[in-house]
Amino acid sequence: MINALTIDIEDWYHVCGVEHNIPAEKWDEYESRVVQNTEKILAILADKDIKATFFVLGYIANKFPHLVKEIDAQGHEIATHGFWHRLIYRQDKDAFSKDLKDSLVLLEDIIGKKILGHRAASFSIVKDTLWTLDILAEQGLRYDCSIFPTIHPRYGIADAPRFPYDAKPDLIEFPPSTIRLMGANFPIAGGFYFRFLPYFLIKTAIRRLNSQGQPAQIYVHPWEIDTQQPKLDIRFDRSFTHYFNISSVAGKLKALLGDFNFAPVKEVLRIG
Ligand SMILES: [Zn+2]
Repeated sequence: MINALTIDIEDWYHVCGVEHNIPAEKWDEYESRVVQNTEKILAILADKDIKATFFVLGYIANKFPHLVKEIDAQGHEIATHGFWHRLIYRQDKDAFSKDLKDSLVLLEDIIGKKILGHRAASFSIVKDTLWTLDILAEQGLRYDCSIFPTIHPRYGIADAPRFPYDAKPDLIEFPPSTIRLMGANFPIAGGFYFRFLPYFLIKTAIRRLNSQGQPAQIYVHPWEIDTQQPKLDIRFDRSFTHYFNISSVAGKLKALLGDFNFAPVKEVLRIG
């Protein structure tokens, strides 16, 4: 069974839910650490000879096109994370459509290849923003990894399918992995959940998905392996989930790459 490994390429200050603290006009004032952190992830992947999908933010690609070229040259898939990391439910259709288009034009220009996949900032395709899927299909995307089948204050559709499905005739939705326990879906394999859960539970959960014939989808951010990053002065609850157990991520990622097979999303879904 081949699982999907996904990396969201954004900087340490791209924290969803606290945009008022860190508006986009101020981003250039912060020290950027995304290149060095992404290089560390690339080295971990190269060591295990594993390829992944990198959902790159347009803002980062515009600032560091050489980073996007390097990721592509190492055989990984480049996909889009939008341009400005805006929550979809805080935008109208036209604004989302433009943000997406800007990111696709830029990424396709940098690598000279068609972009097939999308992940929304903070999984913000929710029940009220399912129109996003029409715009993704219109702009030629073939898959999306944004609909989290769980309950969370900022994202999720609790009763959405847990495994890859046709969201539109030419658009597959591949949800981040969850495990079903006591009638509810629990996220297992990315962000806070990946940092919070002990490795043996993550491993057991992925084994269970694979034994059901389903690929897991893991997600990691470059700032999650950066134990030296500056700390943002944000609300306690966001600070807790954002920084909790960051020192565990590099080790867990290496263990995961040793225990399971991974490939880019487009290969797992056999697209393109
Ligand atoms: Zn993000």
